[in-house]
Amino acid sequence: MKSYVFPGNIEDSILQIGGKPFPYMRTAQFSELVKDSERMLLDLINCPEGRVIFYTASGTGAMDAVVTNYVSQCEKAFILVGGSFGHRWKNLCDYYHCPNEIFEVPFARDIDYAQLEERVRTSRPDVFLCQHHETSTGQLYDMEKISAICKKYEVSLVVDAISSFLSDTLDMSGWGIDICITSSQKGLNIAPGLSFLFLSPRVLQKVFSHKSYYFDFEENLKNLERGQTPYSPATTLFLQLHARLQSDMKIGVDNIIASVRAKALYFRELCKQNNWEVPAEVPSNCITGFFVRKNGDILFKELLKQEIFIMPGGTPNYFRVSHLGVQTNEDLDDLARRKPINLYSYERKES
Ligand SMILES: *Cc1c(COP(=O)(O)O)cnc(C)c1O
Repeated sequence: MKSYVFPGNIEDSILQIGGKPFPYMRTAQFSELVKDSERMLLDLINCPEGRVIFYTASGTGAMDAVVTNYVSQCEKAFILVGGSFGHRWKNLCDYYHCPNEIFEVPFARDIDYAQLEERVRTSRPDVFLCQHHETSTGQLYDMEKISAICKKYEVSLVVDAISSFLSDTLDMSGWGIDICITSSQKGLNIAPGLSFLFLSPRVLQKVFSHKSYYFDFEENLKNLERGQTPYSPATTLFLQLHARLQSDMKIGVDNIIASVRAKALYFRELCKQNNWEVPAEVPSNCITGFFVRKNGDILFKELLKQEIFIMPGGTPNYFRVSHLGVQTNEDLDDLARRKPINLYSYERKES
């Protein structure tokens, strides 16, 4: 099996933790593991004075929590919609009846930041919801510019950084982000099932609403004081998380990002040789989205038969390949040159 999807291929040392007996969680030892994980997460995202709420839920669970606890008490949310994950913010706000306004960005395009500023100036929202990387298209947005607009108009900034954490530079404090979200099955490269809600020191001063029992910020923060979650945590995943974080801290965030980036750039060269178009105007390091020339549906089925997993993109002949986790240049060569290569494109340019 070869994975070019999330979370990518995982080292045996981390995988094997999942096959071992796991400890009882209401102990001082488990509390220490949670506290230590929180400290490392805050360090990696550069928000040393913040807090991290751990949810046993996929990333959307943490998005849901943001809307019920925080956005629901705001007057108006302003939502950046550049693809399906931006739409998810919109759906959540509508679901919980939170007044909102959207700013649409075309498929795989960057934002017109002047236009965005003008809309924020006239709309005067109190909270801005966006993705750092819109994973459905591979487009990375300029958080420095978004952050400057939010600061200028005093709008609280909430960022879904699920697919940029540990693959593109992310500076929570520097960019004045109030709430950031990440999850286990992307940059952290462990199984899905945990999501992390990062709260800045500033947002921690606020009073939150109580509209979601399981995800309640206050209850979760209270338990976090003693290194616990209010309800049963996914114990095995916490053990894998801790091992991953220890390793990531040793490698260093810049080196991790550089390694993801190198794989992305290498694969994009192969795309060029294969005459595959990469539509993103500013592509993230996390994934490469690309169009093959023909036979996308057959290709996907053929690869599945060979236990090769890539992500379909919702548009004919459009695919996404993740660069997270264990991936060598040989793996990428193998994918780009795999038989039946003639299914991929009309002609292969000789390099
Ligand atoms: C993966 C992802 C999510 C979360 O999806 P889940 O299936 O709930 O884990 C949310 N936003 C972005 C940008 C993502 O890449």
